[in-house]
Amino acid sequence: MPSYRELNAEELEALKRELEQEFEAVKAKDLNLDMSRGKPSIAQLNLSMEMMDVLHRESDMICDAGIDCRNYGVLDGIQEAKQLLADMMEVPKDNIIIFGNSSLNVMYDMISHAMTHGVMGSTPWAKLDRVKFLCPVPGYDRHFTITEHFGIEMVPVPMTSTGPDMDIVEKLIAEDDTIKGIWCVPKYSNPQGITYSDETVHRFACLKPAAKDFRIYWDNAYGIHHLYDDKQDYLIEIFMECKKEGNPDLVYKFASTSKISFPGSGIAAFAASDANLVEIRKQMRVQTIGHDKVNQLRHARFFGDISGMVQHMRKHAEILRPKFDTVLNTLEKELGGLEIGSWIAPRGGYFISFDAMDGCAKAIVAKAKEAGLVMTDAGATYPYGKDPRDSNIRIAPSYPTLEELRVATEIFVLSVKLVSIDKLLG
Ligand code: PLP
Repeated sequence: MPSYRELNAEELEALKRELEQEFEAVKAKDLNLDMSRGKPSIAQLNLSMEMMDVLHRESDMICDAGIDCRNYGVLDGIQEAKQLLADMMEVPKDNIIIFGNSSLNVMYDMISHAMTHGVMGSTPWAKLDRVKFLCPVPGYDRHFTITEHFGIEMVPVPMTSTGPDMDIVEKLIAEDDTIKGIWCVPKYSNPQGITYSDETVHRFACLKPAAKDFRIYWDNAYGIHHLYDDKQDYLIEIFMECKKEGNPDLVYKFASTSKISFPGSGIAAFAASDANLVEIRKQMRVQTIGHDKVNQLRHARFFGDISGMVQHMRKHAEILRPKFDTVLNTLEKELGGLEIGSWIAPRGGYFISFDAMDGCAKAIVAKAKEAGLVMTDAGATYPYGKDPRDSNIRIAPSYPTLEELRVATEIFVLSVKLVSIDKLLG
């Protein structure tokens, strides 16, 4: 099939009639499909079911330090969970705190604390006239929702194939002391699956922000979430890089086992410099007597160590890989060369990012919905839900079965074709 852009109006109209018939046939099936949610499938959840069997007796509940995990105490997390998550996050065990069941919750708390109490003695953000955050786009909608919730002004920064455009990041944060943070998903980013290059990470570590309470919010949610054994991205560890560059306090690192064990019932962790941790522990002591140590113990016993966790991630990859391949192969077969969309084939993470012709994303998502396919809302990958080009669509292949995914992707490409033809016809 030649590029749609080479077809004249008559050819486009003829094609449209053909595709509309196909679309009506799928619509008649009254399907109910969902490619909107970055959730592990049931088969993936089942991989961790044995975790429920590791704790039975009173004696099982005692962690390495001899503490009964059923009772109060241990603010930072038990040693074995700290070791496991420290290895996962590639930071020293002493620089990590284990939190509850959600890393997003920890991010919210960090921002909330900065609003009310400031960061290491600086003016609380709520007392400032303006507070801004840099938001690499497309990005993770829930990050943007947190900053929007606190009235923080979001400044989009375009993503490149090596991470956020660092020329823009460096310039803006050096000039403007109202910029207090940047959201980053540095590995297999949500939604593009991009991993920041060595140079990008190095430039982050060397940042010279005008605001002394500026922090990099480094959400490494997909740090060990590879799809392939032989093709994996590598990300430089930023905490050590910052330390080496004399900027130890610059970064807050977040991660969780949400897409390793159970989303919503995993464990979350936070890593930062000693000085940052002193402040954060002070806040934590007010907030809680300690997080769920039973769940920490369950995770530590089930995975054993980081190599157990890495092996476990291979099982996730075996389930996820065919799903990503199904979507990517269909996109290539049906849309390759048509010049009506582009996408990135990621090597890990949970998403495929699709860029339609400008002005088409909302209409494509609406068209797919007509045939019973729910996609992530167009615009969700941008601050305030506003994609200025109305182009980006996030595809989440993890939850549906392979068969559902095959049909869902067919509906998606049909919707892309039909909406694009209308756009070309003007
Ligand atoms: N960060 C990113 C980039 C995500 O994509 C997600 C979930 O999709 C989360 C954080 C949520 O993490 P948690 O379950 O630890 O709150």
